[in-house]
Amino acid sequence: MTGRLYSASDMAKIYCEKCNGCGECCHGMTDTIHLDPWDIAMLSRGTGKTFLQLLDEGRIALHEEDGLTLPHLRMQDGEHGACTFLSADGRCSIHPFRPGLCRLFPLGRDYDADTHTFRYFIVGGGCEMPGRMKVKISKWLGVPDLQEYEQYITEWHYYLKDVKAYLAAGADAAFARQLNLFLLKVFFETPYREEADFYDLFRMRLAQAKSVLS
Ligand code: SF4
Ligand code: SF4
Repeated sequence: MTGRLYSASDMAKIYCEKCNGCGECCHGMTDTIHLDPWDIAMLSRGTGKTFLQLLDEGRIALHEEDGLTLPHLRMQDGEHGACTFLSADGRCSIHPFRPGLCRLFPLGRDYDADTHTFRYFIVGGGCEMPGRMKVKISKWLGVPDLQEYEQYITEWHYYLKDVKAYLAAGADAAFARQLNLFLLKVFFETPYREEADFYDLFRMRLAQAKSVLS
């Protein structure tokens, strides 16, 4: 990774000061806006829909990633299809509970395998509008308990990495199918109760999932 790396307390030139609300950054993303368990928990709480209802309604879809089946935000059909949550006036209709990757844009995460942490970097491309203002990254993300969220993001990232490595090492095809169904159920289909702390629930499920492969 070349270029400057940032922590959440840093300021970065990422705010599009001349944003005209064209909504272009919410078009043509195909299956690239990957959703993690926090995203699904927030989407479900915000929309009142379960993971399976969101799938049935075509708001989200599943893709294959190194042998794993995982969810992403679905774009409308066509090469340049819009996110189904983009309203006619070019606004995000789920802004308070939008997914983590939407919050990040135009930032990416650069993981450090030695420390199991990550830092942020500015992704090239995306919006063509000139002019960026500096904004504090933590404010940009707008995630409550950001430290805990970053810790969770790292745990999820490295857990997926481990499972992908396990599958790549030649796991039995029938077991791989069962494992995928199990992981979808544990991390996505089973609702995250609103009255419970998301991170507590996630860590219980992570421990359960890890025990399957140990
Ligand atoms: S593409 Fe740029 S100008 Fe258009 S909505 Fe996104 S940030 Fe704003
Ligand atoms: S969820 Fe909102 S911010 Fe994310 S792609 Fe859809 S409309 Fe854009």
